[in-house]
Parts: sequence; structure tokens; C-alpha cells
Amino acid sequence: MIQIIDLQKSYENTTVLKGVTISIEPKAKYGLIGRSGTGKSTLLRCINALETFDSGRIEIDGTDITKLNKKELKYLRRDIGMVFQDFSLLGSLNVYENIALPLKCWRYKNQAIDTRVKELVEVIGLKDKINFYPRELSGGQKQRVAIARALALNPKILLCDEATSALDPKTAQEIVMLLNNINKELGITLITVTHQLSVLKNICDEISILENGKIACQGKTNEIFLKKPEALVNLMGEKELSLPTKGCNIEIYITEENSHTPIISDIAQKTGANFFVLDTNMEAFNQKYIGSVVLHTSENDTSKIVTYLNANQYVWHKL
Ligand code: ADP
Repeated sequence: MIQIIDLQKSYENTTVLKGVTISIEPKAKYGLIGRSGTGKSTLLRCINALETFDSGRIEIDGTDITKLNKKELKYLRRDIGMVFQDFSLLGSLNVYENIALPLKCWRYKNQAIDTRVKELVEVIGLKDKINFYPRELSGGQKQRVAIARALALNPKILLCDEATSALDPKTAQEIVMLLNNINKELGITLITVTHQLSVLKNICDEISILENGKIACQGKTNEIFLKKPEALVNLMGEKELSLPTKGCNIEIYITEENSHTPIISDIAQKTGANFFVLDTNMEAFNQKYIGSVVLHTSENDTSKIVTYLNANQYVWHKL
């Protein structure tokens, strides 16, 4: 469990983190989003103690990281892997040597290094590229190698700082799948900083939105995208919808619980009401489609639809 409590951090005269509090459960997939310069990367670097902070606390599995001595800090960092947007591979080393680097630093025996590197190239699907140099790899392949290197010492936590931002959407999606597998198969806590909302939706179960060094909003990813609080609208920009003034406009929420029900066709078949679909805001979250649908109907047909929605306990409101 990672607990960040009332964290404050300044660089010279600028306060970058202004009292950030976040709890992250073991094996969670947690996301940090916000505009550029809101302190996300700084927060990540505080978690692995690459950065100090002015006040507040970070506890990892109950240990206050500011209380650790030099040797204990070294072990803490061993338990926390990190990947970056620019991959940070060493160009003069091949895939095998890049992945082996942390193991060599920790003075593992050659046989143990060999076994671990060969396991990891299987995990990242690059067995056939083991002797290639970074210049011979695509962006996605380089990020896979960086992920393998970050996993070399069996960390409990993996910090991803814009890990997919330099990749095209399809390659980014493949890295997202790899990170999801790593979380599921190896039970590693993932903390992801990204400005790509599609990445957040496909990796993170929970998120915090940072604004100006403060948490503007936090909670379950799908609930936040469904409710669209101001902090998310500020990031995404608001969609303008001009609605008809006659008749009635009803927004129906498709939540995780009812995402498997064909609500709209049920309304048509079971109520006999006539309506138009004016707008849909559906989003994919881990293979489930949730969001909202806006219907326009006459005053007469409104009561039929509303009665049906209430009887089935669907969430809706008039616009
Ligand atoms: P984000 O990851 O949200 O883009 P950062 O954590 O990188 O934000 O940066 C937050 C603010 O702190 C920015 O204004 C940045 O210029 C400043 N900053 C980050 N690192 C340093 C540093 N080492 N020295 C001085 N200012 C820094």
C-alpha cells in the first residue's frame, strides 16, 4: 500500500505540490492526469525518493520513506521500477545487456542474470531481438525493452511516466496491453502518468486529476468519466450540444452494471414510445462500453419512457 499524505514540494520560489493526498492499494492500476506542469512527474519522483519534499509523508507498506537510511533507500528503489517517455536505453548496449544492467549493478551471478534476461524477453515478446541494439528497434520495441529492464529486479511497483506518449496509437495500445498483463500476471502495482485519456481508460482503475499541484478530483476511472466533473471537463474541453426546445430531452446513463443490457432497443420495443437519439457519449473501459445517450421525445411519450426507466432503476435526467 502506498500512502501519500499532504505532500508539499517547492522548487526555489515555486510550490509545485500543494498538499497532495493519495492512497494506492497493492496491485492497483492508478493514474495521475493533469495539464503539463501540474506536478505529476515530480510526484512520481517523490514516490521512488529520487526527489525530496518539504512536508507531508509517503508511506510504502507502512514505512515512512523519509526515515530510511542510505542502504534502506537503495532497497526501496530496487522495489520500484520506472519507465519513461524517451525509453532511456543505452545505445551502446544490446537488448540483452540493457535488461541485464540493473542485475549487474546488484552483482547478480552471470547464470542468474542469463536466466532472468531470457525470462523477461519472453514476457515482452522480443526473444528474437535479444542481440539487437536500440537503433535497430522500433519505438514500441524500445519501450518493451525499457519495461523489461524496469522489471529485472522483480519490483513491487512500476512507475510509468508518459510511457506511451511517444508512440503511435496502435503501438501505444500494445504497450497498454503489456502493462495490463504485467499487473495481472506479476501482481505489480502500476502508477501511470499520462495525458492520453485513452491510455488512462484502458489501464487505470482509479485516477487523480491534478490541477496546479492539488488534487482536483479522485476516484474510480469509469465513475469519473461518467460523471464528468469540472476537473475532467477542463482537461477534455466541453462538448456543445444544442437541444430542441420543444418536447423533452432525456439523458440516460449506461453504467458498468447495465452495460450488458440493450437499454435503447428495450425502450423502443417495450414502451412503444417514439424518440430520436440526439447524442451518444460512449467510452470503452476494459472492454465494457459505458457513458450516456441523449433521447429526444414528445411530451406525450416522455411519461412512457420515464416510467420504464424508473421501473428498471436506470439513472437518467431531463436536459
Ligand atoms: P508535469 O509532470 O505535471 O508536467 P512536473 O512535475 O514535470 O509537471 O513539473 C511541475 C513544475 O515543476 C513545472 O513548473 C516545472 O517547471 C517545475 N520543475 C520540475 N522539475 C524541476 C526542477 N528540477 N527544478 C526546478 N523546477 C522544476
